[in-house]
Amino acid sequence: MEASLDNASELPGTENVDTADPRGASYTTPTFLQSLIDAGMLIPTGVDGIYGRGGAYEAIAEGMNALVTQAGADQHAELMRFPPTTPRKDLEDSEYLKSFPQLAGTVHSFCGNERDHFRLLARLDEGEDWTDQQQPTRVVLTPAACYPIYPVIARQGPLPPAGRVVDVFSYCFRHEPSLEPTRMQMFRMREYVRLGSAEQVMAFRQMWIERGRALADELDLPHTLDVANDPFFGRGGKLVADNQRELKLKFELLIPVNDGAPPTACMSFNYHVDHFSTVWTLRTSDGEKAHTGCAAFGIDRLTLALLRRHGLELARWPRRVRAVLGNL
Ligand code: ATP
Ligand code: ZN
Repeated sequence: MEASLDNASELPGTENVDTADPRGASYTTPTFLQSLIDAGMLIPTGVDGIYGRGGAYEAIAEGMNALVTQAGADQHAELMRFPPTTPRKDLEDSEYLKSFPQLAGTVHSFCGNERDHFRLLARLDEGEDWTDQQQPTRVVLTPAACYPIYPVIARQGPLPPAGRVVDVFSYCFRHEPSLEPTRMQMFRMREYVRLGSAEQVMAFRQMWIERGRALADELDLPHTLDVANDPFFGRGGKLVADNQRELKLKFELLIPVNDGAPPTACMSFNYHVDHFSTVWTLRTSDGEKAHTGCAAFGIDRLTLALLRRHGLELARWPRRVRAVLGNL
């Protein structure tokens, strides 16, 4: 990974933020991030957007994930779990680097000989940069939980007539260091992914939009649904993002979480049209290009939304909400 870029102060627009102290000069009261840290919910590591999680936080996150499982029980989805890495070749083929080069995280490793190792240690001793001695490996970090499955399913042959529904869960990496606790560099995403005809995918997405809203209601989380776009890179990316909005390919469920900021996308409902069957040979039972879509639940963002809404002391949460989350 590009260690030298892991510093928010190098990103445009954040020059004046003191990254060592979440209570930067622009804040007059403790930030939500600082109160999460003080309560032991998040454990700072010194890198913005990379946190350890405390026991109470994890209990909420696990309850949240279990609730999503319950909401999808009738889907009889195939469960697939991958480590939070993807083959580099698959990321290259997926065109992720065309759309989001700024977010991708690649894994590098030392591949030198003993002489190179001495040099590396000497440079470390001198406080010099040593990272140019790291070589790219064949793996990258997974940017979204559903990414690893498309090439795997494509290799398994055409879909059955009913298509497929897959249940995935992964820590994901996006290089977007931020002081907003909801914008992490590594976070958990749970998804139900639909592969089939356009009609099957559209019906699935509509159903999950309704289930997502019902889920937020059950947790007493105020929410709105809106059309959204992904942060496509560059000037060309703006056109792609406009097109994505116009075709209503992405909906987000937004919940207020951060201090003085607009509500945060905690779930997203995406229709990829035939993008993944253009890059991989994903076919329906009658040989057509398969369409795909996914319902994504940001487990960490939902956990933070619950903490924002109901407070940092679980004992004082509404009993109904605690029950829904498995008797926290
Ligand atoms: P955003 O627009 O805020 O960058 P997104 O809606 O584009 O996020 P998706 O790509 O749809 O994100 O990812 C699915 C879900 O993963 C989001 O709804 C959100 O809950 C979660 N998520 C995305 N990025 C982050 C992040 N940096 N930190 C924590 N959770 C995230
Ligand atoms: Zn997805």
